[in-house]
Amino acid sequence: RTVFFNGQFIPEGEAKVSIFDRGYLFADAVYEVVSVLDRKLIDFAGHMGRLARSLAEMSMPPTYHDEQWLELLRALIDRNNLNEGLIYLQISRGNPGDRSFYWPSAETAPTILAFTQNMALLDNPAASAGLSVVTLPDLRWGRADIKTTQLLYASMMKMEAKAAGADDAWLERDGLITEGTSQNAHIVNSEGVLLSHQLDRNILHGITRAAMLSLAGGMNIRYEQRAFTVAEAETAREAFVTSASTFVMPVTSINGKAIGGGKPGPVAGELRRAYIDWAMDNAV
Ligand code: PLP
Repeated sequence: RTVFFNGQFIPEGEAKVSIFDRGYLFADAVYEVVSVLDRKLIDFAGHMGRLARSLAEMSMPPTYHDEQWLELLRALIDRNNLNEGLIYLQISRGNPGDRSFYWPSAETAPTILAFTQNMALLDNPAASAGLSVVTLPDLRWGRADIKTTQLLYASMMKMEAKAAGADDAWLERDGLITEGTSQNAHIVNSEGVLLSHQLDRNILHGITRAAMLSLAGGMNIRYEQRAFTVAEAETAREAFVTSASTFVMPVTSINGKAIGGGKPGPVAGELRRAYIDWAMDNAV
């Protein structure tokens, strides 16, 4: 692969990061994952907006303008012949030359990288089979709204879910589901209302979630932005997750209990189709 690394397009094997880079020592880095369909970027403006917010929350200076990012990510897509898959981009606070908890002065250049991953996103078998999830405690730090590379707990919980025979985990804090390990979590409750955790510091403000809710509004699907309990999830009519890599993906089992008779529900199905249509129509 050709990767983008600190202003240059180079072979992946030539991209080298210092051991003193704060991304490496402190997970002091923010990132985005943008999906690519038909060689085009999905919801690019949404991802750029969140990247700017993550940088601001971490008191990191802005990097490229959105138009510059667009140009260089398009170049990366071309160089790697990426038809369908993901673009990962990351900005770390850089290498101050030694280890220190304190943030270095503004002169330290950030480490900026981006790479592509080929992946079949549309033709995902989980879209017709549905995912199984188990609920596990949300013991992440209190700023889950900032998209940092501090992903070790999510990684641990994915391993635990896998060991329990499930596809993934939904995280639970004080009896309420916050979100999935790497997706936002949603249910359609027994009254037919779509429930999605409110935007606060306990969840990542998913770009796919925002687009999905806006589409739901336009489709006259009743929704409320509030947290739901594990019991509400287990007795829901439907459940699904959203993320850049899964779009809208049905969940058909929670803690071993079948959701919607173990089959993907109609609301999740309609929202998946609507999201993909909208995403492709607005891709850049
Ligand atoms: N929640 C978490 C913890 C995530 O890591 C992600 C994506 O990686 C999401 C939600 C979904 O966000 P988005 O729709 O912006 O991909």
